[in-house]
Amino acid sequence: MELDLNVLTVASTRTAIEQRQVTATSLAESFYKKIDAEDKQVNAYLSLSKDRALAQAARIDALADKGEALPPLAGVPIAIKDVMVTQGLRTTAGSKILEKFIPPYDCTAVARLEAAGAVIIGKTNCDEFAMGSSNENSAYGPVRNPRDLTRVPGGSSGGSAAVVAAGTAVASLGSDTGGSIRQPAAFCGVVGLMPTYGRVSRYGLIAFASSLDHIGPFTKSVSDSALVLQHIAGRDPLDSTSADVPVPDYVAEIGTPVKGLRIGVPKEYFAEGLDSEIRSAVDASIQNLAAAGCEVVPISLPHTKYAIPTYYVIATAEASSNLARYDGVRYGHRSNNVRTLSEMYRRSRDEGFGSEVKRRIMLGTYVLSAGYYDAYYLKAQRVRTLLTQDFENAFQQVDAIITPTTPTPAFKLGEKSDDPVAMYLADIYTVTADLVGIPGISVPCGNSKEGLPIGLQILAKHFDESTMFRLAHAVEHSLAAKA
Ligand code: GLN
Repeated sequence: MELDLNVLTVASTRTAIEQRQVTATSLAESFYKKIDAEDKQVNAYLSLSKDRALAQAARIDALADKGEALPPLAGVPIAIKDVMVTQGLRTTAGSKILEKFIPPYDCTAVARLEAAGAVIIGKTNCDEFAMGSSNENSAYGPVRNPRDLTRVPGGSSGGSAAVVAAGTAVASLGSDTGGSIRQPAAFCGVVGLMPTYGRVSRYGLIAFASSLDHIGPFTKSVSDSALVLQHIAGRDPLDSTSADVPVPDYVAEIGTPVKGLRIGVPKEYFAEGLDSEIRSAVDASIQNLAAAGCEVVPISLPHTKYAIPTYYVIATAEASSNLARYDGVRYGHRSNNVRTLSEMYRRSRDEGFGSEVKRRIMLGTYVLSAGYYDAYYLKAQRVRTLLTQDFENAFQQVDAIITPTTPTPAFKLGEKSDDPVAMYLADIYTVTADLVGIPGISVPCGNSKEGLPIGLQILAKHFDESTMFRLAHAVEHSLAAKA
């Protein structure tokens, strides 16, 4: 039977393999054919891992042949953002400086997916070191939005969002430091989840800003998102910041009715600058939740306006420190024709890093420097605490918070690439959750008149992904009922 790769979900892929409608091997081969035919114009893949994928698919098929029970993600083709290291498989972080880097070990999230039976099919394009909101900062060319090839897919996990939207992977992993999973999910019309800080191990995630970095999945449905999280979540002794908090059965809880849940609608997220079509799509979803028995509570998160500057001080400070390791000695590109050690450091970094990464390193070094540390870095940390208190207060009144994911739908390639501040503002609704460490999900809630996807964001309390999934599932359900 021919399967339609464009509509396969994680759950339906596994069922098709379990029922022997398709073998894991032939499915992986079909995905590679589709990638060969279609990915040139989208540019979402940086490397394909055919040998590794086909070896894993053969293991799954051997189990199926023997009639043995299949693992929970058996044969499901999953793509990985190229900021997660993969043993023996090139990992670039979208940077020239790591163009030839072959990691000696696997990121925990990737290893866990594979242990659950998933087939890792390739590595996806992204903004260099995950710094960007449009994927235009990749050293390997921009990714195009599969829903409209003249537009950006969002960033920095643009490739991971695009492969799910284009049906060249069933699911993918991305990373979110200031919105890099939720914003591209909204732009490409897929589900993007940022779990609670500490819920998923960061071991093997190339560090951008360690106190803000999260790994999470892109999927076509909310229940797929829950299913993937189930298998990557949980304590990892290799990451001391991973939390020792029990992982509930997300999938089992997802259908629990949302009746009686209190949802907060923060006025600061519906202010000036919000596209009117996004506002009405999000409003309509909130009405649907009210009709399903949720109590809608107007709330205020008064420090919201400080979130972007706070983020761009803390994220750049941490980046300047994390990126000091690319010195041409241990990793990646080393300049030729240098006479002294310091010239080697300088030229290797100058040749290897792109301009946005250099801008961040300079900004971050500046805010950490003696004399400016108190005025910028320390102040930003204090504001981070105020933002956290905003949410603590809000969560005394409500179970979850609903906002738009982005102020506008996907913009055109090149539209903001010369204006870093305009680009930074694309993250206005997403950065706060990273600073506070709470989970957030973007779920499609409609299309603009031009046919561009619109995303709705749900934020929940620390480690309460279950409530978030239930609400997201209800939003998805009401949208499907309307279609
Ligand atoms: N767009 C934001 C930035 O450029 C967020 C990036 C991210 O989440 N990795 O920093």
